[in-house]
Amino acid sequence: MTSARASREYDLAIVGAGIVGLSCALAAARRRLKVVVIERDARACGASVRNFGLITITGQDREGVWPRARRSRAVWQEVAAQAGVRIVNQGLWVAARRAESAAVLEAFLRSDMAEGCRLLTPSEAQQRCPNLQTSDLHAVLFSPHELRVESRDAIPALARWLAREHGVTFCWEPAVHAADPPTLETSRGPVSAAAAVVCPGDDLATLFPERLAAAGVGRCTLQMLRLESPGFALPGTVMSDLSLVRYGGFASLPEAVALRRRLETEQGEHLAHGIHLIIAQGSDGSLVVGDSHHHDAGPFADERIYGFLLDEYRTVIGSPPPPVRERWMGTYAVAKDRVVLIDAPSPRVRLVLVTSGIGASTGFAIGEEVIGDLFG
Ligand SMILES: Cc1cc2nc3c(=O)[nH]c(=O)nc-3n(C[C@H](O)[C@H](O)[C@H](O)COP(=O)(O)OP(=O)(O)OC[C@H]3O[C@@H](n4cnc5c(N)ncnc54)[C@H](O)[C@@H]3O)c2cc1C
Repeated sequence: MTSARASREYDLAIVGAGIVGLSCALAAARRRLKVVVIERDARACGASVRNFGLITITGQDREGVWPRARRSRAVWQEVAAQAGVRIVNQGLWVAARRAESAAVLEAFLRSDMAEGCRLLTPSEAQQRCPNLQTSDLHAVLFSPHELRVESRDAIPALARWLAREHGVTFCWEPAVHAADPPTLETSRGPVSAAAAVVCPGDDLATLFPERLAAAGVGRCTLQMLRLESPGFALPGTVMSDLSLVRYGGFASLPEAVALRRRLETEQGEHLAHGIHLIIAQGSDGSLVVGDSHHHDAGPFADERIYGFLLDEYRTVIGSPPPPVRERWMGTYAVAKDRVVLIDAPSPRVRLVLVTSGIGASTGFAIGEEVIGDLFG
């Protein structure tokens, strides 16, 4: 990839090569703008490569998330083949092991957001997903909408494709210290651009820290695992009862109150650590398993959290988890009162952070909105 030169002038400079930065780059390149992406690391290392790679539709909040997720899924489907990004599998299976969970799913099925979804009986679920533990199942929600990519491959592939096919310039390793078009100050000298979009992920200290503080943006830390292949193929991504009190599209239903009450009694520690189970299979059969949510966490991973996750895996799959191949932590920006922050520190600058842990699912739609707003 080429390097940006100070003497070259761009229509748009983007700070950050995570999914939000790349989404803005795609939307701008489609308007034939001359774009440079400036990333302080040698490759993207943030939330965008540490996540499940799950483009989640079903269960997302109706306001602000569900429509953006549907638009973003369409863009993922469009660009995946062109960019050499493999859609590893599709669909979501939510295993309900409590009557209260089944009641949440039944209520969800009555809403328009359940379009295309089905509620399966335990015996129907066993036929279609034989590796779920069915002895204590009440029902399984099947959604056909979700896509799964292997983010650690997909994000670099998107960057290479944007450079190759759309002429986007990538400038790896300079950190941007100031974004004030027509000049961005970087650790390798100035870059000239008529406009800038700052997509810093959860770096809340370097660019516009006072605006991020005023917007109440903080950081959430998650613990993740990759397990060896269990020797079987899941038909899609799997979740459990815990997800029904986490995702707004389920958790906002009146029926979720009784479920939460029961989970507080039976899985209080899981709730206290923000744990819900996602099992996402890769093309080599390995399983990405997570996650937990802690605000203001320190740098140390807590082994008990991994224990809770593996316990929930054992309950849902009904067999011991395969050996752990990798453990890691991820962080993303959060805010109490919004799912996305799109701020305008000056007329030619936008500051864009996904503040709800759904950037893989919504990034492409957000990129289109931001570029539309900036360039008309
Ligand atoms: C463990 C985990 C699991 C998740 N699972 C999912 C999921 O399955 N589905 C989903 O939709 N979402 C998921 N998310 C959320 C999603 O990953 C994030 O919302 C999304 O990746 C945020 O993208 P980003 O581009 O804003 O941030 P990042 O990916 O963090 O990228 C920001 C980039 O900006 C760079 N940068 C920052 N400041 C500067 C500077 N001053 N100069 C130069 N470069 C700079 C950083 O180096 C970084 O590369 C998950 C997140 C985590 C952590």
